[in-house]
Amino acid sequence: MLGQPQWFVDEGYLTDFDYYAPFEPDLKGVGSRGGEYEQSALEEALERSKVFGNAVELFKRYAPENGTGVVFCCSKKHAELAAQAFNDAGIPADILLGEDQGEVRKDKLERLARGELRVLCAVDVISEGFDLPSIDVVLLLRPTQSFSLFRQQVGRVLRVIYAAGFDLSTRAGRLDAIAAGPKPRALVLDCAGNYHRHGHPLDDFFPTLEGADPERKKDTHTEDGDALSTRRCDECLQVIRSYLTVCPHCGTEHGPDPRVPASVAAEMRRVESVANTLHLCFYELHVVKRTDSPLRAILPRRFEQELAVSPASATIPLNLLGGQKTPLCWREPGLSTPGPEHPFQAL
Ligand SMILES: [Zn+2]
Repeated sequence: MLGQPQWFVDEGYLTDFDYYAPFEPDLKGVGSRGGEYEQSALEEALERSKVFGNAVELFKRYAPENGTGVVFCCSKKHAELAAQAFNDAGIPADILLGEDQGEVRKDKLERLARGELRVLCAVDVISEGFDLPSIDVVLLLRPTQSFSLFRQQVGRVLRVIYAAGFDLSTRAGRLDAIAAGPKPRALVLDCAGNYHRHGHPLDDFFPTLEGADPERKKDTHTEDGDALSTRRCDECLQVIRSYLTVCPHCGTEHGPDPRVPASVAAEMRRVESVANTLHLCFYELHVVKRTDSPLRAILPRRFEQELAVSPASATIPLNLLGGQKTPLCWREPGLSTPGPEHPFQAL
C-alpha cells in the first residue's frame, strides 16, 4: 500500500529515524538462488569487504550515548567477526543465532535490555517471532534481496517508547510522549546497500520486487538494480526520497535526480501528498465495511475528490485490506487506547 508505514511514524505509532548509508560491500560475482544471495559467495564477499572496523566507527559516531543496537549479519562467522570488532573497540557485544533458544536467547536479550551488552550481532533470528527489547540502532551488514526481510530488520528499531503523563489518544500527545521518552529518534545504519535494492523502508511507491515480473522492475529500478525511489545525499549520507531536490536533513540542493523521469518524480510527490488521506480512507472503508455506517455513501465521492481515483478503482485497496493481520491498525481516531505497538510485524 502507498506510504503506509510512514503514516505510523507521522501519527506517533512508530519512532521516526535517521537512515545513513555511508558505504556498502562490493557484491560483484555474488549470484542469486531462490530470490536471495547465494550464501557462501555472499559470506566470502562480505569477509573480503572488511567493513567491520568502519561499522564500529559509525556506531560510535552516530549511536546515542549508551545506546544499544542489533547488527544483522549473514552467517555465524560474519556475526563473530562483527562482535569481535565491537568488543575490540570496548563496546560489549555478543552474537545471537537462530539456534540460540530458551535460556540462552533469553539471557542474551536480557543483557542487551540491561545495557550490559550494547550490541547483539544476529543471524537468522527475525523470522521466528523473536521479540527484542527496545533498541536505538539497527546496523545492516547483511545485503538481502528480500524486501520484507529488509523492512522487518529496520522495523526492529522503530518501536515507540512513550514517556508517562501524556494523552496517547491524540497525535500531538503521542508525538510529545515520544519526544520526552528515552528514544526520541531511532537510527538505521545501512552498510549493506539495501536501500539501493529496495528504496526507503517506509516507502511503498514501488511494490516489493519479490516475485515481481521483470517488466515491472524496469519501471522501478535502473539496469544495475538500483531502486529509483531513493537516493543518498552525499553531503550528510542520509538516504532520501529521490524526488526531493533539497535534502530535508542538511539542506543541500541536489536538483532533480537524473535517473528519475520528471513524470515519475511528479507521481511520487503526488502519492506522498495523498498518503495520509488514503490511510484515513482505507481506515474508514474498513470500518464502514464492518459496521454498515452511513459513511458508506460518502466515501466513494471522497476518493474521487481527494485522490483523483474513480470509485471503481477505490475498491482495490479494500481488497488489499483483506490481507491485513492487524485490524487494530484501522481503529477509529480518538479512541483512548494506544495504537499497535509495532505494526511492522503485520506487514
Ligand atoms: Zn543531506
